[in-house]
Amino acid sequence: MVHRQRTIEIADFELPRGAVGIKQLMAMPRATWDHLRNEITRRRQQDPDRPLARCRLCKGPVFIRSHFAGGEHAPVYAHYPESPADCPWYDGANLKPDDARAAQYHGHQERALHRWMCDTIAELLRNDARCRVVTVDTYRRPAVEKRGRYPDVYAELEGLGKFAIEVQLSKPFAPEIAARHLHYEAEGVALIWVFRELPDELPQGFHDVITLQRGNAFLFDDAAFAASNARGTLALTALLENDRGGFLKPRYVALDDLDGSTGRAVFLEDRRSDRLLAYCKAGREKWWEAFKQAPPTDFDYPFDEPCFIPPWDSIKNFVPELRPWKRRCWDEQFVRGDRLFAELAAILFSIAHTAMAGRDRVYLTRFSDGSALTSMLNAKLSAQAFMPFATLIETMLSATPARERLERMSVARSFALAKQGAEQVRPGDPVWAGATRLFPEVFDGLRRAELADLGKLPAWAGGAATGG
Ligand SMILES: [Zn+2]
Repeated sequence: MVHRQRTIEIADFELPRGAVGIKQLMAMPRATWDHLRNEITRRRQQDPDRPLARCRLCKGPVFIRSHFAGGEHAPVYAHYPESPADCPWYDGANLKPDDARAAQYHGHQERALHRWMCDTIAELLRNDARCRVVTVDTYRRPAVEKRGRYPDVYAELEGLGKFAIEVQLSKPFAPEIAARHLHYEAEGVALIWVFRELPDELPQGFHDVITLQRGNAFLFDDAAFAASNARGTLALTALLENDRGGFLKPRYVALDDLDGSTGRAVFLEDRRSDRLLAYCKAGREKWWEAFKQAPPTDFDYPFDEPCFIPPWDSIKNFVPELRPWKRRCWDEQFVRGDRLFAELAAILFSIAHTAMAGRDRVYLTRFSDGSALTSMLNAKLSAQAFMPFATLIETMLSATPARERLERMSVARSFALAKQGAEQVRPGDPVWAGATRLFPEVFDGLRRAELADLGKLPAWAGGAATGG
């Protein structure tokens, strides 16, 4: 076995992300750690005194370094230079961005190609009748920010807005990417990164840009050049991530096709948020079906109904540790774990549905008036079987707009008594893991934060986006 020495084993992220161990980090899908990496860099640009992630041992700020080995990138934590060098997990001298940048300039050829691309893009934009301003490598006085910048190409098109186009031939560096995004976001200018081609082995900087562009890469290659000439305005080759770590067939897009409505980045199609939301929905799909089939008014106790078999099968596939948990329930307490879990799920779904609908809707008990949720919670929390889940239920309730129920005297009292009455189930418990797979928007700190960053956390989970 290879023993990894001097590796930061745990980084503590600002809440709601919390602690992320190195094993968890390394097991993440690329899109997830790419996102984390960008958020760390972005925060460092914005507010260096409040790092997003800190080393567990020395509390120094850390970032995610992309380590290339065996044909793949793997994420590891590394201390930023100001972290104390006597940290037991100190990993040696960090590559300073300036040194790295110096190594990046490798010749006239690249500079010449860069110049040609900037000039050609500017000329194509100038041919567009809507174009009012276009400049190449020219200082732009800031409107909001303290100092201005030199965008490779800057253009203003009537009816479309302001664009800064950064032509990037070699790999861009994380701090630079984040700084530019923040700058142009504040200035109300849409920033587009344009590459000449995507290398087979994508350097990390390319991944960082693609992450900020929500899974979109834009090229000004020969095909884009031909498409531009045909259209009489700038066209770019758009490569959109597929679900298998590659890209869909190239498409040619004009600036008109791009979505700049979010302010954070310009993209053709948001390939990241949809995938995240689909992941969230997949975990509870079978459950919604069962709750639709077994409304509480038709059954005294619906959880014996056959319609609750597929949802239990689905959740134990997602969370295998629920299988031994079910056996323990039976061996130790003569309790049917699958039914207990279904009933607990019904409580969580009642909270979610009430938050979504803006009026009380519960999936167990026959309460149906305006205080149905309150009555149901009080009834369930007073039962011995559900007391251990008071903290879990409270976590769910607190995350939603239905949280004002917690201020009601009777509900507050029920939670307090339940917590006194039984030891509480915590994160790490199989049931908590099951709840996390049902409602990642609430319980999965990493995904919750990523959705919030993208402006896609649903309103029922306490976010700004609409829909469920
Ligand atoms: Zn440290």
